[in-house]
Amino acid sequence: MLDSKIPKGALADKWTDYKSSVPLVSPANKRGIEIIVIGTGLAGSSAAASLAELGYKVKAFCFQDSPRRAHSIAAQGGINAAKNYQNDGDSVHRLFYDTIKGGDYRSREANVHRLAECSADIIDQCVAQGVPFAREYGGLLDNRSFGGVQVSRTFYAKGQTGQQLLLGAYSALSRQVAKGNVTMYTRHEMVELVKVDGKARGIIARDLVSGELERHSGHAVLLCTGGYSNVFFLSTNAMMSNVTAAWKAHRKGAYMANPCFTQIHPTCIPVSGESQSKLTLMSESLRNDGRIWVPKHKKDAEAIRSGKLKATDLKEADRDYYLERRYPAFGNLVPRDVASRAAKERCDAGYGVNATGQAVYLDFAAAFMRYGQEEASVKGINNPSQDELRSMGEKVIENKYGNLFQMYEKITADNPYKTPMMIYPAVHYTMGGIWVDYDLMTTVPGLFALGEANFSDHGANRLGASALMQGLADGYFVIPYTIGNFLSQDIRTGTIATDSPEFVEAEQVARDRMEAFLNNKGTRSVDSFHKALGKIMWAKCGMARNAEDLKSAAAEIRELRDSFYKNVKVTGTMDSMNPELDKAGRVADFMELGELMCMDALAREESCGGHFRTEYQSEDGEALRQDDSMTFVSAWEFNGNDPGKATLHKEDLAFESVELKTRSYK
Ligand SMILES: Cc1cc2nc3c(=O)[nH]c(=O)nc-3n(C[C@H](O)[C@H](O)[C@H](O)COP(=O)(O)OP(=O)(O)OC[C@H]3O[C@@H](n4cnc5c(N)ncnc54)[C@H](O)[C@@H]3O)c2cc1C
Repeated sequence: MLDSKIPKGALADKWTDYKSSVPLVSPANKRGIEIIVIGTGLAGSSAAASLAELGYKVKAFCFQDSPRRAHSIAAQGGINAAKNYQNDGDSVHRLFYDTIKGGDYRSREANVHRLAECSADIIDQCVAQGVPFAREYGGLLDNRSFGGVQVSRTFYAKGQTGQQLLLGAYSALSRQVAKGNVTMYTRHEMVELVKVDGKARGIIARDLVSGELERHSGHAVLLCTGGYSNVFFLSTNAMMSNVTAAWKAHRKGAYMANPCFTQIHPTCIPVSGESQSKLTLMSESLRNDGRIWVPKHKKDAEAIRSGKLKATDLKEADRDYYLERRYPAFGNLVPRDVASRAAKERCDAGYGVNATGQAVYLDFAAAFMRYGQEEASVKGINNPSQDELRSMGEKVIENKYGNLFQMYEKITADNPYKTPMMIYPAVHYTMGGIWVDYDLMTTVPGLFALGEANFSDHGANRLGASALMQGLADGYFVIPYTIGNFLSQDIRTGTIATDSPEFVEAEQVARDRMEAFLNNKGTRSVDSFHKALGKIMWAKCGMARNAEDLKSAAAEIRELRDSFYKNVKVTGTMDSMNPELDKAGRVADFMELGELMCMDALAREESCGGHFRTEYQSEDGEALRQDDSMTFVSAWEFNGNDPGKATLHKEDLAFESVELKTRSYK
């Protein structure tokens, strides 16, 4: 039976009451407790720094050469907080409500409310660390809007918010490293979880430079290992992001929750060819000012595709601003799942604009003129020419999104100031992840999951600028309290030995697995299998899914997995730096995860958020939830060394403070 351990009491009081009653660990006892933190992105760095600040002894691991290179650094657009600086009606309740609604009523009320409560503190914490959030003329912090909301609550640092937040968390972490409270293990990858007496007590890590396998023990293990979008091969995630730590934990008893809930982001640079290995996000913040459109007439779309017509040749009347047409209340700022599906619908119907027909326009022409008018007025310029207005407007846009425009131009060789950007949806974020209770503890006692690695707060669709908020809430404000609930029972345990049979066995399992790859006499590269997996996932478990496809996808993945173990070729040795060997281990785990994702998508007989089952849609193509039968979190238990034999457990979602409604952004 899954116990989410939601505290009793009124929703708005739960967290406050919890904090004042949760068992504490005394300062003297904290010094004798070791905590392993896997991952030093935003969730892991903030957790490691905060726990060390409290007095625990922390060992932190990441596979990059520095915590500063975690995938979190890529975050562009911003971080939400219910500060109501704009006086536009924001509040903790509104942020809570938007997030529950945005997630299509498939997340836990209590967790989401806590997140909304913590949000304002995150901004204060980061400002105190010196994070250079954008400011308005008067010096106050500036905000912009993200999809699915009607207020401006997103704090940002140009298009580099993740980088700046990570530098803040990294400084806090470095301070603790310098004080000796955190031992940092860079270029180390966790390859096994070690359980002793049913509790998470350590890990086996591979030193990615020397190749050595190491044993590390602790009284608790925190997985802050990010998301698994790279199961699709092509995604906006960092190339090295993977599911290995989470999957090893899953194999040792941690349930995987809602693994099929994937976010497909509407504003990415379209796929350009077969040899591509990475996709690039154009931040959602661009939808504050950019308007999305395709030609109104198929003949124009065809002419554009064949290079006979340019976007700028098309008159206003011949353009279809389809989001503004279909969703007048939210327009270009509808949530990501809605915007992605709408783009797919137009492209599938034949209105797509690049050579492949898989692209729509994101156009700033109107914004240039609007900001130009404002500037002319501020500067007292009477009767400016159209060119002058445009040029002044371009400067304003450059100040807001300059680095994003530059990135687009570098990748596509098109100047987005002169011609509209071309975008198409791409895999971006995974709402699913390791199941955790209110304490962020998994189904393995002593094993916790934070940030994108857990499933907790975003339901079936994450609103923009909410991942950074969640990672930092988990690390700075939630885990420092909730971990006490577990560790207060552990104050007499003492140091955990690493020569126990459990450690010996876990190390042997890891060693055998790696040796098997190296001894395999195959001929195909690891990447070729990864790419094949990605193609199945995108075609059959991507933006639109149906029962038949999902069943055949699961079967195809099993076949591919068999072939992988027979035919993969991994060169090099174990006792040296061997990125190909590391990759083989990660792809092996993706192969198992992919099958589970298809099973989960099949079991979820409804459409909700980013999970769109074509069998469940309204007449106008909107997602149709099945609240009577599907209002639960799916939590899968690994069984019998085979992902296909996983058992589904259900955590029923009870909604006490919000009424379940059909999501409408019209
Ligand atoms: C291009 C892009 C832009 C984005 N923009 C925004 C935005 O504007 N706002 C927003 O809210 N969200 C945004 N997101 C989402 C957000 O960036 C991520 O969800 C978030 O940063 C994840 O943080 P994390 O700490 O959970 O994981 P990560 O930052 O992914 O960190 C994972 C850490 O785990 C370590 N790790 C993983 N596996 C192992 C292992 N086996 N052993 C050892 N270490 C391991 C890695 O080394 C790394 O340190 C964006 C995402 C992308 C891809």
